[in-house]
Amino acid sequence: SVPAPRRPIRDLPDELISQIAAGEVVERPASAVRELVDNALDAGATQVTVRLLAGGVRLIAVEDDGMGIPRDELPIALRRHATSKIGNLHDLESVATMGFRGEALAAIASVSEMALLSRTAQQASAFMLDARSGELRPAARSQGTTVEVKELFFSTPARRKFLKTDATELAHCVEAVRRHALARPDVGFAIWHEGKLVEQWRATLAHGEPADAQALERRLADVLGEDFIRESVPVHLRSGAITVTGRAGLPDAARSRADQQFCYVNGRFVRDKVLTHAARSAYEDVLHGQKQPVYALYVQMDPQRVDVNVHPTKIEVRFRDSREVHQAVRHAVENALAAPRAQALASVPV
Ligand code: ADP
Ligand code: MG
Repeated sequence: SVPAPRRPIRDLPDELISQIAAGEVVERPASAVRELVDNALDAGATQVTVRLLAGGVRLIAVEDDGMGIPRDELPIALRRHATSKIGNLHDLESVATMGFRGEALAAIASVSEMALLSRTAQQASAFMLDARSGELRPAARSQGTTVEVKELFFSTPARRKFLKTDATELAHCVEAVRRHALARPDVGFAIWHEGKLVEQWRATLAHGEPADAQALERRLADVLGEDFIRESVPVHLRSGAITVTGRAGLPDAARSRADQQFCYVNGRFVRDKVLTHAARSAYEDVLHGQKQPVYALYVQMDPQRVDVNVHPTKIEVRFRDSREVHQAVRHAVENALAAPRAQALASVPV
């Protein structure tokens, strides 16, 4: 075949760059929900409310009572690689916020109709920015931010075609909020769909208080059900500079699907082979066949020893010493399962 005539090298238009980048960050409504809730938590929100229409495709509105975005910075918030969270490489190496890449709002805005409504403590009124037209005008709301995302993927029909039913997309959105909620019992969460309250988890700690075992237990019970607590045992292990806490399900609580396996590193939900393998191997002698254990495990470690800047979604991490993390998690879960309380519970006939 005849090769197409060569075109000169050119810079891509900004809008197209954002749309290409959006493919990595926003796969479906739940990815936008995750990013917007990340932002609300980074802003110090004590209450985060998510409102959805049509599984999030028609509308995702995430409302928080955080610090807000100053009027003059609203347009900057939408720019690619614009962030208030890091300023240099040193910040990046010990990043404590959920976000830091300054990509999410730009990416989501490039594949939706986005509006930002925000008010800081210093402002006498809120301001609303329409992302497409750039129109900025006074509006009404109390301190905090609402990000509205309408008609996700309307301009990228190829992506829109991959979406599943509203019910499935809603379930993914709820899962995204659940993952945040399990890490932050000091924050209240609510999810509405088509005007109906779907989930509501109240804060059980003063905002900013570190989650103790009791608060975590309450939140786990609220989010995953009382059964999860009844059929699990507390995990607590300190190994060198690594702390592993949370709860591990008893062998009898194992399920056919791996849908209740939550791992956090320094408060961030992650999917990581080292962690899941370590947890699974702790069940080696007590769980046979294809059954999947349930657990919620929280790893705290020196942020310098874990790289969160592996993928735009920040759901993957890389450990500097993955053996040390593997051992800590494996021992933490093994010890929890071997504790007398675990044995006593496991032998109680139900
Ligand atoms: P990142 O979170 O990586 O900084 P984003 O594109 O998600 O990038 O957001 C850009 C910036 O907009 C943030 O750094 C923050 O300053 C501001 N921002 C976004 N959402 C909120 C919010 N809910 N409350 C306060 N500020 C926000
Ligand atoms: Mg962000």
